[in-house]
Amino acid sequence: MDTKRVVADFEDWREVVAEAVAVLEDGGLVALPTETVYGLAADAFNAEAVAKVFEVKERPSFDPLIVHIGHKRDLEIVADVPEELEEIVDELIATYWPGPLTLVLPKKASVPDLVTSGLDTVAVRLSAHEVMRAVAREMPIAAPSANRFGRISPTSADAVMAELDGKIPMVVDGGACRDGLESTIVAPEMTEKGPVLRLLRPGPVSREDLRKIAKVIKPKKTKADHIEAPGQVESHYAPETPLILIDKPADFVPEAGVKYGLLSYRGEGNSSLMEATEWAHIEIMSQGKGKLAEGAVRLFFCLRNLDAAGVDVIVSESVSETGIGVAIMDRLRRAAAATKK
Ligand code: AMP
Ligand code: MG
Repeated sequence: MDTKRVVADFEDWREVVAEAVAVLEDGGLVALPTETVYGLAADAFNAEAVAKVFEVKERPSFDPLIVHIGHKRDLEIVADVPEELEEIVDELIATYWPGPLTLVLPKKASVPDLVTSGLDTVAVRLSAHEVMRAVAREMPIAAPSANRFGRISPTSADAVMAELDGKIPMVVDGGACRDGLESTIVAPEMTEKGPVLRLLRPGPVSREDLRKIAKVIKPKKTKADHIEAPGQVESHYAPETPLILIDKPADFVPEAGVKYGLLSYRGEGNSSLMEATEWAHIEIMSQGKGKLAEGAVRLFFCLRNLDAAGVDVIVSESVSETGIGVAIMDRLRRAAAATKK
């Protein structure tokens, strides 16, 4: 299959959206930009199209997809908000939609089980990206990240092409993703003491942000074949190259004959690992002072470059776990966990 790549720029993005919608209505898949990472989109109510998403991504059927809607009011097409949670859901939506926050709520029976991997909940998002939102106004869209399962999410159309060229009919190039990390996923729940937010995946909407709305609690433990706390597959977001995550510089003892690549947070003069060995390749997430938001935007881009550089092992520095730093460290830990396997 030839993959058509179309640029959505200011003048013609409506035409591009119409073209993408036509492919989706026909049961085809389209990679679309969002503010987090690129999504691999299918018509959420077309189970055959959704099945193709799992096939193309080589994604295990136990890992459910996120559904994108095009308006706040469309939430009721895919989810049933329990009365006791209405207030907190309204507040979350008013504060963070459109934006990088995914809500896990009881699903409408009409949503195909394939989308939710048989769970009775559905994960729903209203993207801040014009293109994704315009497409999702035409029909709810099931869209996980547009990468092969377990690999690094794509944050540019080039990265999507590297993952899926020849496997899908269309990629919409909407430029680089604003946030660069997957959405925050929360499940609002009612307890005796009031509503709480179960944080299933850290992301651009930080724990500190969420705490302003309600108490934030940890995900339940995941069983190997059953995602109770999805987004929690232990080894994930992994480059092809083994990655080790270093907390204390002294923990890194280079071996002779190994080509090491460095993923540095702040680069030359600000990195304790810089002199630790003769690096074959260095990528810097946020040169100088170090801004976590910039680090988040660049993380997957840097990891892709390190993969392409042909090093034997990627050595990554840690970043501070505040704000979006929590999400960066979450992805780095999962990448390192994939290496241990
Ligand atoms: P991706 O879009 O590739 O980042 O993957 C979507 C993430 O959302 C996965 O980690 C899923 O496990 C998670 N997810 C989707 N549906 C649900 C659900 N019903 N309950 C909890 N998590 C979900
Ligand atoms: Mg993914």
